[in-house]
Amino acid sequence: MGIFKHHALENIEETDDFYSAIDRENLVKSLSEERPYTYWTIELYDQKNGIRGGGGLGVLAADTRRVAEQMRVPFTLITPFYPVEFHQEVKPDGTVLDKSVPVDFRDFGFELVDTINIKCNGELVELSVVQKEFQTTRILCVTEPNFRELYSGESGSDHRLYQEVALGFGGYQALKLVGLKPAVMQLNEVATFFAALARLDELVTNGMDFYEAVVYTRKHSLYTNHTLVQAAEAEFSLEQFEKYVFPNLRSKPVKKWIRDKFEEGRIRLSSVTIEIAELKSGVSKLHARVADYHDLSGEKVKFKAITNGIDIPYWILPDAVKFYKESVILDRFCLPTEKYAEQIEKIDASQIREIKKRGRVFLNAVLKTRPDQNGKIFQIPEDRILFDFKRRFVDYKRPWLPFSDLERLRTILESHQADYILSGRVHSGDERMSEKLREVLEKIESDDYLREHVHYIPDYDENIARALSVGSNVSINVPIVGLEACGTSWEKDVGNMCLLVSTHDGGVADAPKESYLSVSGADENEEIDSLYQRMEEAAAAWENDFDLEFFVKKQLQAYLPVISGTRMLKDYLNFLFKKV
Ligand SMILES: *Cc1c(COP(=O)(O)O)cnc(C)c1O
Repeated sequence: MGIFKHHALENIEETDDFYSAIDRENLVKSLSEERPYTYWTIELYDQKNGIRGGGGLGVLAADTRRVAEQMRVPFTLITPFYPVEFHQEVKPDGTVLDKSVPVDFRDFGFELVDTINIKCNGELVELSVVQKEFQTTRILCVTEPNFRELYSGESGSDHRLYQEVALGFGGYQALKLVGLKPAVMQLNEVATFFAALARLDELVTNGMDFYEAVVYTRKHSLYTNHTLVQAAEAEFSLEQFEKYVFPNLRSKPVKKWIRDKFEEGRIRLSSVTIEIAELKSGVSKLHARVADYHDLSGEKVKFKAITNGIDIPYWILPDAVKFYKESVILDRFCLPTEKYAEQIEKIDASQIREIKKRGRVFLNAVLKTRPDQNGKIFQIPEDRILFDFKRRFVDYKRPWLPFSDLERLRTILESHQADYILSGRVHSGDERMSEKLREVLEKIESDDYLREHVHYIPDYDENIARALSVGSNVSINVPIVGLEACGTSWEKDVGNMCLLVSTHDGGVADAPKESYLSVSGADENEEIDSLYQRMEEAAAAWENDFDLEFFVKKQLQAYLPVISGTRMLKDYLNFLFKKV
């Protein structure tokens, strides 16, 4: 018997043992092709399908959908299709230049379904509904030529509110247009609040009692929070809601409900998302514990910890995935097997080196298409140790930390025949980080060894992220402790057998500090000292089979269950469809 009726796939039984780990009875009752799991997100990072996100929030969305596809879960992801995206270059003076590039959904296999309307600022706005199907899943988008890019303008601005309203009210209409009803709504951050509001409005308009409708909407909504501090969130004004939100609501009690949530004419979407979603999750153990959110009565919000995982087949070198499966470390769904820890114990250095050798070939092929800051194409020879730091260039991630003491950095790299690749992207208009990047580039240029062996690759994206995880030996992850909600690039690194040099934060803190090369200190200077010590240890480990095995095994034993995107999806399904 198949899990879901009317399934296009012939062989659904394949996934039976995955579902046996879930409350299957309830799941089968609740989910079907016409009533899918719906996932709402303002950001999706899925370049292959023409949608480039900003960072981890979008990567998580793409990974969740891909894993749902592999597990044959009826799943619809609703997101905007942005008609423009920005790419970044470094100018000869070291400052960054953003270039906008138009993107057409037709070039990525999306079909135009029809158009719908929402009301904004006294006008009807026509949105195109476009979609692309993938087995049991689909990406359903709203778009229009003036939608602009992801995160265009200030948060809290009219255009952001317009984009969020278009996703929520527009996306909800789009769902009906294609004949679907949401079994559950996962709200990936508060920018998707209006989707739940659209549902509430529909229920009440169709005659359901207001309080019953609230209870019903709450029961079927999950708010996934990625932020630590509620106060950091932008607010919207009542005037903005008068222009963009209220015209899209038909029900008077719903209008009143939302109007009553304003305090001194301002509203934060988190405060109402907390009210409309009974289920709430955070993205790592630490984050779920420390996220400081309060509901309108002042009560602290409890978040269930569901640590972000990654789509292993997408981010990890196929040779490595094959190795994990053949070694009975991962099962065919990429879940750790029952005896994964024992099996990892058997890994030897020659296997690690062989996988990394193939990974380096892959990296070098990608590097042929990615010039460094000087416009030069370069390669990393097989026998050299490679360090990498690849991240959005934001303050708390501290990309400059390894450049604090150039002498020490040079000594480590030179004595171990090592190279260093830094890849990043500065947020549009972030002058401070643009200046920080310029300073790092100037430091690199000032030193004869670093100039040859430290490369900056602009326009950090999925392709370079994956290539570096696959092809480098040591990855550096040094967010200021307390500021990373989860982070997933370190998961790609651990899965690809890089040694992880990291502060104890985000999802890294799901396991004890002894699980990896931990950077710590009472202040930043101590952390810098600790960072160089760990970099030195990591490089030395690559020169010694015993140490290499020791570190790689320990990381995999600690983190493989965390990393597994299948484990994450299983956790979400269990949380959403648990028996009541
Ligand atoms: C994996 C990935 C991320 C997530 O990075 P973290 O900083 O670890 O959260 C962001 N951007 C891209 C392009 C990625 O591939």
